[in-house]
Amino acid sequence: MKVIMEDIISLSKRRGFVFQTSEIYGGLAGFYDYGPLGVELVNNLKSAWWDAMVKEKTNIYGIDGAIIQNPLLWKASGHIDGFSDPMVEDVVTHKRYRADHLAGIDSNDLVELERLLKNVKSPDGNKLSQPRYFNMMMQTWIGPVTDDAAKAYLRPETAGAIYTNFLNVKESMRAKLPFGIAQIGKAFRNEISPRDFIFRVRELEQMEMQYFIDPKIEEDVYEEWRQFAWNFLIDKVGIQKDNLSWHEHEENERAHYAKAAHDIYFNFPQGPKELWGTHDRTDFDLSNHTRVSGKDLSYIDEVSKTKFIPYVIESSVGVGRLLLAVLCDSYTKETVNNDERIVLKIKPSLAPYKVAVSPLLKNKPELVELAEKIFKDLKARFGMVMWDDNGNIGKRYRRQDEIGTPFCVTIDFNSLEDDSVTIRDRDTTLQQRINSSKLISYIEEKLAI
Ligand code: ATP
Repeated sequence: MKVIMEDIISLSKRRGFVFQTSEIYGGLAGFYDYGPLGVELVNNLKSAWWDAMVKEKTNIYGIDGAIIQNPLLWKASGHIDGFSDPMVEDVVTHKRYRADHLAGIDSNDLVELERLLKNVKSPDGNKLSQPRYFNMMMQTWIGPVTDDAAKAYLRPETAGAIYTNFLNVKESMRAKLPFGIAQIGKAFRNEISPRDFIFRVRELEQMEMQYFIDPKIEEDVYEEWRQFAWNFLIDKVGIQKDNLSWHEHEENERAHYAKAAHDIYFNFPQGPKELWGTHDRTDFDLSNHTRVSGKDLSYIDEVSKTKFIPYVIESSVGVGRLLLAVLCDSYTKETVNNDERIVLKIKPSLAPYKVAVSPLLKNKPELVELAEKIFKDLKARFGMVMWDDNGNIGKRYRRQDEIGTPFCVTIDFNSLEDDSVTIRDRDTTLQQRINSSKLISYIEEKLAI
């Protein structure tokens, strides 16, 4: 099924996944807020990644670095000088556009872009300036004086604090190569043209892991982390394989630090686009930080006694982009019993609400009382349980389908007799009766898949 972005945006707002930032003031381009359901999905995606990356591994350590770091870090990393995209400006409106996007190519080559854009007009029909680079770092000032000496940057990627803490983690954890450092956190990019809903934003959250290795094992490790990303998306996030593909970066497309880069593309409504990058950053980062900081970040192998600067294989994915992929991948419009429904077929363990509980009729105290008891028990176990006694049962099911709740439990008059309840499955719409004492283990089993 071809998913349309408008449908995803509308569902996101209607059902509390994603709202425009400062909406009552007209919003702010490139910034979004997550609503009650969005924040649950975000948290579930982050814990799935943290579990797979940190808790299930023995040699990957988590950190949570500051958003504002010493600006020298960004000088050493090349971001102050090189973190830019080619851009053109509408000479009348002064609106700026990504030159590579207007030219329809994946390249940062200014000469090539200038040639392709020679006769191209801006979306408003005006002449365009020559392409030039534009730095995407967001600036701020530390302390009361806003002069150059006080200038600082909001981090453009989370990786920075990982490199500057390489020695701290190695020493505090007595870590031996190979080992990784993982981090989840906000990053800021002054994107020229934020667009496609939460696909390209100016405040984003990244999940990144830098794996420090002996250069000898570079190729095998690179392959392992490519595979990790692919398997994670399919097994832990439940994304359909058909919606994913590989994209290897050409030389002119790679970031300034990367020797090799493979992206996993997801079929977003606007076309197949980057979701998750795996990069071979070689010794670029640790060498530069050694040079600029004057601290030796090399490693001595205990067995061979050789000294070298570790190479880094990086795995990096945006939380918001992943959430958008999950919504697009799971959004389904289908007809069941002559009735059209919208259903989010999200992997049950990631769904914002795990189960909804309803008394068949809300004006029958004995039904409500039993339903409330079951609701309480389920809530104590699963946390995210919704009480829904509004409208007829069909309408309640549709409401839960639309937010991806995997199970709905209904308490009816038979329940009063024999303690059985109806449990209805979101994807198959099949209903079965089970004893209320079996509910928790039934749901636990399905969530573990
Ligand atoms: P793009 O080519 O889309 O600008 P990138 O190659 O600059 O992305 P990286 O620097 O490798 O991206 O960032 C790692 C991940 O962070 C990306 O794979 C993506 O999921 C996410 N990401 C990067 N930029 C943005 C953004 N502006 N908005 C949302 N997510 C982003």
